[in-house]
Amino acid sequence: MPLQIVHHPDYDAGFAVNHRFPMSKYPLLMEALRARGLAIPEALSMPEPAPAKWLKLAHAADYVDQVLACEVPERIEREIGFPVGRRVSLRAQLATAGTVLAARLALKHGIACNAAGGSHHARRAQGAGFCTFNDVAVASLALLAERAVENVLVVDLDVHQGDGTADILKDEPRAFTFSMHGDRNYPARKIASDLDIALPDGTGDAAYLDRLRAILPELSTRRRWDIVFYNAGVDVHAEDRLGRLALSDNGLRARDEMVINHFRTAGIPLCGVIGGGYSTDVPALAARHAILFEAAARCA
Ligand SMILES: [Zn+2]
Repeated sequence: MPLQIVHHPDYDAGFAVNHRFPMSKYPLLMEALRARGLAIPEALSMPEPAPAKWLKLAHAADYVDQVLACEVPERIEREIGFPVGRRVSLRAQLATAGTVLAARLALKHGIACNAAGGSHHARRAQGAGFCTFNDVAVASLALLAERAVENVLVVDLDVHQGDGTADILKDEPRAFTFSMHGDRNYPARKIASDLDIALPDGTGDAAYLDRLRAILPELSTRRRWDIVFYNAGVDVHAEDRLGRLALSDNGLRARDEMVINHFRTAGIPLCGVIGGGYSTDVPALAARHAILFEAAARCA
């Protein structure tokens, strides 16, 4: 089976090339996937924009309305890191629906990935840290609401702590949030996940993979999970502009394979999202994000 991949051309909101957020990584990731023989037409799905009722499961209704109307207060836009105009609003609705769609495909096929998503700093009240809507929290709550799943595990390995996901899901006993991240990185004020592992600056492949290998069995045996959302942020890489860890390409590959193999061997459906990654060398960045898809394709 080819790996099911969810994508939309409007994941790219067309920022200037020198913007702090490397928006062009989305089309370049698709190029990288095509070059690797992934993203073939029969394995590609395109989402429709997420309906407001899904978004309001995870976010305050007034904030959702503000984003949909492109009327987000400037104070919140500053926290997000860019103005929420028409293209950014559409992109947020599409990327969120993309994770919902990828999760449904994962339930059907065992594994699927969204070529976007992992906007884990968006909290219930508002967006922050380049994140408008929290796609994984929306997808978790949407699937729980329609009883497609009963128990959801979030494994967030982006280098930044998953504060928004923790905030949104903290009162949802059917969802368990795990974040392993750089201790000294954004956000300065972290919101506790159900389980957090904070790593010191400069943690490299061996120490990182040891921590991960030790924790995975503990996570998978906690409950009978119906789905795991995997945030495979590549900002743990040594050359990332915002990360403070020191993983190599091989370390990144070993990480993704370890997570995917662990949950797929246990028969748990896995929905991958790409999470963060920051570099002025966007083709190199896109190649790093492609590692998730290569690892997932071997388990599809
Ligand atoms: Zn990040």
